[in-house]
Amino acid sequence: MQRIGLFGGSFDPVHLGHLLVAQAALEELELEKVFFIPAAQSPFKPDRTLAPGAERLKLLRLALSGQTLYEIDGQEIDRGGVSYTIDTVRAYARRFAGGELFYLVGADQVGQLPKWREANDLAGLVEFVIIPRPGQAGAHPPANFRIRSLMGFPLGVSSSQIRERVRTGRSIEFLVGPAVAEAICNNRLYL
Ligand code: ATP
Repeated sequence: MQRIGLFGGSFDPVHLGHLLVAQAALEELELEKVFFIPAAQSPFKPDRTLAPGAERLKLLRLALSGQTLYEIDGQEIDRGGVSYTIDTVRAYARRFAGGELFYLVGADQVGQLPKWREANDLAGLVEFVIIPRPGQAGAHPPANFRIRSLMGFPLGVSSSQIRERVRTGRSIEFLVGPAVAEAICNNRLYL
């Protein structure tokens, strides 16, 4: 039975916290693959203007270049509009019929899970995997969800922090991969 990790988010930009979430999940859950699935627009951040999908995809490709256990899936960006996880997960349930799907979320997202669109159907299709995030006290997971927590490699970095550091001229070295840092600088993102 295939064990597949799904990792959605804005990835604006992808940072080392994201990569460590994926690595921890791959190892601790013995997954075959983790798919990074950047959202076109998060339903919970409707007013936030993200960097264009194509740029966020490019940064993900640089971050994951040469990796075979991690894949990037542009389906939410291709669909456009507000991205709902249930639509994406249904596509994976068809693609990996009979497999096991694990949906990775940072500890800051746990309290929100019941508000996700068609949350009960979603909970039937995936097991949620909570990865610790420094500074985020884990909220109580919803009772009707299949949930497990990982040890992870807790790292208190966020995309907002990266964007703020770029905007104020501070270094993002060691918070994102070197190729990602270079591309953010060359493409004048987040200024
Ligand atoms: P922003 O600061 O812009 O809100 P973010 O850093 O939280 O962004 P997202 O792309 O929104 O990044 O996150 C995608 C997923 O990754 C979410 O489930 C989030 O909780 C998780 N995540 C992000 N950073 C970390 C981290 N440092 N540790 C654990 N989980 C994380």
